[in-house]
Amino acid sequence: MSSTPFDLFVIGAGSGGVRAARMAAQRGARVAVAESGALGGTCVNLGCIPKKLYSHAAHFADAFEQSRGFGWTPGEARFDWSLLKANRAREIARLNGVYEKLLRDAGVTILHGRARLGSPRTVLVDGVEHATQRVLVATGGHSVVPEYPGGELAVTSDAMFDLPQFPRDLVVVGGGYIACEFASIFRGLGARVTQLVRGDQILRGFDEDVRGFLARQMAQHGVELRTGVRPASIERAGDALKLTLSDGSTLAADTVLQATGRRPNTAGLGLQALGVRLDERGAIVVDEAFESSVPGVHAVGDVIDRLQLTPVALAEAMVLVDRLFGSGARRIDYELVPTAVFTHPNVATVGLTEAQARVRYAAVKVFRTEFKPLKHTLSGSPERVLMKLLVDAATDRVVGLHMVGDEAGEVVQGFAVALKAGATKAQFDATIGIHPSAAEEFVTLREPVA
Ligand code: FAD
Ligand code: NDP
Repeated sequence: MSSTPFDLFVIGAGSGGVRAARMAAQRGARVAVAESGALGGTCVNLGCIPKKLYSHAAHFADAFEQSRGFGWTPGEARFDWSLLKANRAREIARLNGVYEKLLRDAGVTILHGRARLGSPRTVLVDGVEHATQRVLVATGGHSVVPEYPGGELAVTSDAMFDLPQFPRDLVVVGGGYIACEFASIFRGLGARVTQLVRGDQILRGFDEDVRGFLARQMAQHGVELRTGVRPASIERAGDALKLTLSDGSTLAADTVLQATGRRPNTAGLGLQALGVRLDERGAIVVDEAFESSVPGVHAVGDVIDRLQLTPVALAEAMVLVDRLFGSGARRIDYELVPTAVFTHPNVATVGLTEAQARVRYAAVKVFRTEFKPLKHTLSGSPERVLMKLLVDAATDRVVGLHMVGDEAGEVVQGFAVALKAGATKAQFDATIGIHPSAAEEFVTLREPVA
């Protein structure tokens, strides 16, 4: 047993774990964090950050092409996958260092190794026991690959950032965030991309107009979307892979990305032995204080499987620390969480879809516009923008806001504040636009859709 008794022992130094450890230590708690991989977790190492960097890389292909309409004659553009990977790795290593410094400066003890609970008051890291008043499980999640013959030949998003060879023929399985983003990114970087979706459309859960509009825009960018199919088997065929699909057709590829959802990391942590309740997906069940069925054992982030988003893990960590070491019994509010999908073009949304709004409110006014943005009047790109507002007719409150278009995430973040503040359509109308911008359309939508 190590001699230091901690107030809080955090398992996992990802988005939620690092935030909780730092904030608790800054409030005077004695805190340790154990991490079996790299500091920063999924978002920093294998998620948001490298993904967004690659998305920026992919956008240059369009920019070179579109510059011609503005009078440029770009030289021959060549893409160097090795250079992008090396630059990404250097930046991520820098961020790992930043995270280490933040934790150390806050006085957090960092332990590198795999942790598991010995009891509600002890954590074992590589065989060494540490005593603690409370434990926070912030172990995140992992990609799931459904079982089918040859499924092991597919890779998950973790491997995509460092593929030894750039994928020339990429098949993406899935229609969610990761599938759509990676299909867009690797298409932009020059791969031929076929996306296989088992249902009839991508991005289940998003507004129907958004789903259809994005699918058409992605197709224009060259992503071949095939709906109603999934791989039945994958075989090696020389250097290539041969996929046989559920409809009997075949497809050749050099890389198959399986992006079919993620599950919480709860195995091997000793949770069941302590009686920590898990749900049917293996997520830790917690109450509003993020405490599990075992007193003193808490959990936040992807491991509780509510909304798998970094800002949500951060918010949950802040509420937990406030409750344990701060002033109050704050509760988290999962209403109106904005989100973006970094496809080409981006999708961003806050609030209800039209279908959800129609269930919740007796009368809903729908405002919708679709247009060619100013830039593309000269760029030659057929890309268009979709914007949609949903208004509760009884109160005039804007209850849903959706955008598909360049930098939609940047635009919708600001409008999320307005929706959180309860903005009405009349207040949107009274707001003066910024001209010329795409965002101004959100404050000039006058006539509801019939
Ligand atoms: P994680 O960040 O996953 O951290 C968990 C940590 O626990 C990991 O470092 C892991 O190594 C460690 N760990 C696990 N088990 C143990 C153990 N037994 N002992 C010690 N350490 C352990 N979200 C967004 O908001 N925006 C995005 O653009 C976005 N893009 C994404 C792209 C991809 C490809 C993926 C996969 C995810 C993306 N996400 C995005 C989701 C986001 O990354 C997660 O919601 C977020 O990282 C969850 O934080 P967390 O703290 O719960 O877990
Ligand atoms: P999602 O849950 O978003 O999507 C999973 C996809 O896989 C769905 O299209 C689903 O189809 C499909 N699917 C599931 N099982 C099978 C199967 N057996 N065969 C074929 N298809 C299957 O998961 P992701 O892995 O894309 O991402 C996980 C989470 O990470 C996201 O939900 C999001 O919270 C987070 N994330 C956030 C990002 C962001 O903020 N920009 C980016 C990347 C990830 P169906 O619709 O039919 O169920």
